[in-house]
Amino acid sequence: MAKQPEEIIRSNRDWAAEKLSANPSYFRDMARGQSPQFLWIGCSDSRVPAEDITGSSPGELFVARNVANLVVHTDMNLMSVIEYAVTQLKVQHIVVCGHTDCGGVRAAMSPKSYGMIDKWLRNIRDLAYAHRAELEPLSPEARERRLIELNVIEQARNLTHSCIVQRAWNRGRDLTIHGWLYEMETGLLRDLIAIDKAFPIPEAYRYDFSA
Ligand SMILES: [Zn+2]
Repeated sequence: MAKQPEEIIRSNRDWAAEKLSANPSYFRDMARGQSPQFLWIGCSDSRVPAEDITGSSPGELFVARNVANLVVHTDMNLMSVIEYAVTQLKVQHIVVCGHTDCGGVRAAMSPKSYGMIDKWLRNIRDLAYAHRAELEPLSPEARERRLIELNVIEQARNLTHSCIVQRAWNRGRDLTIHGWLYEMETGLLRDLIAIDKAFPIPEAYRYDFSA
């Protein structure tokens, strides 16, 4: 039978009681503030909960999730999250995490129109088109897997094109961007790319902070 909202509220009470019995000041301490070291940009897919798959506790990850883990520079929601995480919370790592069996990527590979979300997924369609020479010879399964990987790498690179990340690097901050793939079939994370301030940002995207 499907889970009911009341059960979720009940589970929350059990969880809070458990936390308190282990540490009576758990919530008082938590309410004092956060200082996560990671910003997590992941897919909204219900099977990829950032904290669960990384064994993280509340307070450790600052999280933004959207369909197909995209970094779009006109997405004011995500850009605000990135700015707050980098500038105020001073996170040391930004993780872009994609996953196998991603419905967003699959929809972007299909000729079918899904309505409003077509516009969001257009970013992946553009990416598939840019990499068509590599993708076209592959089997449908291999093509989907590769596009999921390429999407993670592209979004990690997109982060380096933002003035938020570039300003942090310009100020000498230690900030590393990681592109990871979560394999639904194994439950394991695979490291696809790591980018630090030595990364050669293409000139077209480079800001000059001395100006
Ligand atoms: Zn997904």
